Order: sequence, then structure tokens, then C-alpha cells
Amino acid sequence: MKYSPVKNYINGQFVEATTDKKLQVISPVDGDLLSTVPLSSAKDLDAAVKAAKAAFPKWSRMPIKERVQVFFRYKYLLEKNLKELAELCSEENGKTYGESVAEIEKCIELTEFAASLPQLVTGEVLEVSRGVECRTEHVPLGVVASIVPFNFPAMVPNWTIPNAIALGNCMIIKPSEKVPLCCGRLAELLKEAGLPDGVFNIVHGDSEIVNAICDHPQIEAVSFVGSTKVAKIVYQRATSNYKRALALGGAKNHLMVLPDAKEDMTAQNVAASMSGCAGQRCMAASAMVGVGNVDHIIAKICDEARKIVPGKNLGAVISKESKERIERYISEAEKDGAKILVDGRGVKVEGKENGTYVGPTVIDYVKPEMSVAKEEIFGPVISIMRTNTVDEALAIENANPYGNAASVFTQNGGLARYIIDHANAGMIGVNVGVPVPREPFSFGGWNESKFGVGDITGKSSIEFWTKLKKSTTKWNPEAGVNWMS
Ligand code: NAD
Repeated sequence: MKYSPVKNYINGQFVEATTDKKLQVISPVDGDLLSTVPLSSAKDLDAAVKAAKAAFPKWSRMPIKERVQVFFRYKYLLEKNLKELAELCSEENGKTYGESVAEIEKCIELTEFAASLPQLVTGEVLEVSRGVECRTEHVPLGVVASIVPFNFPAMVPNWTIPNAIALGNCMIIKPSEKVPLCCGRLAELLKEAGLPDGVFNIVHGDSEIVNAICDHPQIEAVSFVGSTKVAKIVYQRATSNYKRALALGGAKNHLMVLPDAKEDMTAQNVAASMSGCAGQRCMAASAMVGVGNVDHIIAKICDEARKIVPGKNLGAVISKESKERIERYISEAEKDGAKILVDGRGVKVEGKENGTYVGPTVIDYVKPEMSVAKEEIFGPVISIMRTNTVDEALAIENANPYGNAASVFTQNGGLARYIIDHANAGMIGVNVGVPVPREPFSFGGWNESKFGVGDITGKSSIEFWTKLKKSTTKWNPEAGVNWMS
């Protein structure tokens, strides 16, 4: 085992869980055993909540300009430790080193945004009547929780950690049991940056801890990122306990390709979007709708896909089960009459025979009713459908139950605007394969890709992590008698 067993992080210390239940942490890169992760109990969660609750009064009363100093230092530490963090991220998740570097760079951008929060949370003040002022303030909620998935071991935690904490909350994070290592390293960096003990805590585990978070009476808000199935469970359970909740779910993102699209750029973008992070991105292109004759572009997409080599510029998928599931989808599409233009099944990487790799896969002549057209595959696979008109393409996109992202590739500005207006998704790209909004713009989909109001990052997150206090004051009664006297 390469690393010592993973521990919970409570009140600034790494501590053993109170149970003996453990899972193995296996590297998808080569199948090596990296560590073990405890399946904590509600008792462990309770200890973390107690620590967070005790830290809250002092932390929340500190002026925000003082609180964000921690995040200026944390940003510097992320930069200083970028290489080591990226290596750890690749080891536990399976993505390429370059993709992990990009992930840590995104953590830095998220932290820069948090450091700018003092500029964004100024309240409002108005003399509402003679001598009477009303003012608003953003007040932290208290103890909050963040439940995260396996596909971005560092970035998704950093969607919530810097903003929620800079805004004055104390946090408990529940990492994915598949990739528990990065979060522990983030805890060390936060401590080194000067974050007081108890403000940030980690409780490892599975659904038992997630349920305990949703039920805990002293947790005020729950953010979740993961599959739609679990997002629904968490949103329902947390809100039924009267908590604030925001639950981001899965995705099936459609790219619409028009015949006038720039061939090389489109092909490179489509191939990169479907295969980046081995297709395990909630923003990955999973379905493509070719409008009219786009055979010339599809041929180039296949050329680009063939340049993507597992174990070199394509990482592993998270597990053996995942590899089998993805390959099953491809076989089912073939059986149903689709044409496999580039086939990523049965891949083995020399020297990493126990790694879980799937090659890039391009499936053409997919029908909207096939499972590869409808379901989230979460692998480096693109399913191509064909239509005659933009409206038919939009009808296919609109009919899918998710709504994270959609993109169009064209040189026609009017049609691009028409697609922005009519696509049923929260994040739209024009000639952009992965239309993730950069800070300060917020991240969040629609429909079955997100449950709750607002987005998880950017300015929108201020509303989620704070409540508004409204005060009305009058100090000069001599100013005149009026209806508020
Ligand atoms: P997942 O839903 O299986 O797990 C997410 C978290 O929920 C983990 O911490 C896990 O321990 C916990 N969990 C799992 N099953 C549970 C259950 N039955 N009850 C309570 N908790 C449970 O997701 P994953 O496989 O880790 O991540 C991949 C999914 O996340 C994909 O669907 C992907 O699209 C989605 N995702 C969405 C976004 C977004 O922004 N919308 C971002 C990243 C990932």
C-alpha cells in the first residue's frame, strides 16, 4: 500500500474513524492499492459538527477582509504544491497529469474568486424615510456540508470550500470514497494557510454519512455534486429536514454541428470534449447532432479520435465496473444498428495491464431512442445522430431530461443565437466544446442536472452560503415625525 490509511480530519487533526469498516482505494492507472478509506459512522459526523459549531462564533465574527487572507495564502500554497497535488489527483482518479494540472489551476482560479468576495458582499443602504435607514448584510449560515463526486478530486471540493468558508461558514466535506486522498492534502494546505482548527473538517464514508449529513439538526445547508439519482435523494432528504440544499446531478450534453462549421477546429473540439478526463466530466460532449451533410467533419473527428491514445494522452476510467459499463453501452448500440467508426473496447495498456482504460469511441447513425443517445455513459464515447434541420436537432436536445450544457459549431451568428435561445440547458457554448463558465461567472445546469435555486460557484454562491439580515435604524428623532416614528 503506497499511502498510510486515510483518516478523518476533525478540529485540525487527522483522527481514526470510530468504525472498523474500510474500503480499498485502488488506482485506476495500474490497479495498485493506494490506501484504505474508513466508512465513518454518524458518531464521527457528530464529532465534526461539534468542532465546526465550536469554531463558528470566532470565525464568523472575523471581518471578511481578514478571513480572505487565509485564501490569499492558500492560493499561494496551491501554486507551490501544484505538481505534487496534480500527481496525487492523477494517481487516485486516473486522469492524465496534464488534466490534473489544469484541475489544480482551476482550484487556484476558484480561490482567487473567493479572495475577491469582500468586493462583492457589500450590502445596500438607503434612507427609506426621513432619518430612517434600512441596510442589508450577508450573514453566514453556520455549519454547512459539501458532498462531492469522484471525477474532480480537487476541483469540485474547491467549488465550495473557499467561498463557503470565506463567507464565514464552518464546513464538513464528505469526499468520494473512490478518491479520498486529495481532500486530506487540501486540509493540510488550509491549515498551513492559517485556517483555524474546526473551520474545515473531513468525514469519509459512503451513503450512511451522506444520510447522516442530511439528517443532522445542526447542519444548516447541504451542497451536493454527483449523479442525478443521488442528487434527488440528497435534495429531497436535506430539504425535508428544512435545510437549504443545492444538488448538482448528471448530464447528457449535446453538440450541434452545422455544415458551415470550421472543420479542423470543430473536429479537435469535439474529440477533446468527448475524451477529456476519459469522458468523466459532467460537461463532456456525449451526444452530437449533425445537421445536414457533415460527413466531412465526422471523418475529421474520427482522425482526431485516433490520435488519442490510452495511457498516453487519455487517462483511465475510475474502475473495472465503469469500464465494463461503458463497453456494454457500445456493444448495445452496435447490436441496435449503430455504426462504430472508432472502437475503444478491449483496450490494454502495456505495463499497466490492471489499469482500467477505454479508448475513444465514435458511434454514428445513432437513433434518439437508443440508450447511448439517452443515458449518461461517463466514458470517452460520442453518439452521433443526424437531422435535416436545426429545429430537429433542437428537438432532440430539448427532449433529454438533463440540462447541464449544449454547444453549437457554426460560422452563422444568427443561427448560433437561435440555438442559445432555444437549447434547454444552463450552459451553452458557441464553437466551444466544454462551455464551463470561468470565474466570476457561475456554474450550474438546469432540469435533472441541478436541484435547488442558484448556482454553485461565482456570485450566485453568495446567495447560497449566506442569509440576508435587514436592519432599520433611526438615530435622530429630531429629524421630524413621520410614519416610522
Ligand atoms: P455519485 O452520485 O455516485 O456519488 C456522489 C457522492 O454521493 C459520493 O460522495 C458518494 O459517496 C455519495 N453517494 C453515492 N451513492 C449514494 C447514495 N445511494 N446515497 C447517498 N449518497 C451516495 O457520483 P459519482 O459517480 O461519484 O460522480 C459521477 C457523477 O457526478 C456523474 O453523474 C456526473 O455527471 C456527476 N457530476 C456532476 C457535476 C455537475 O456539476 N452537475 C459535476 C461533477 C460530476
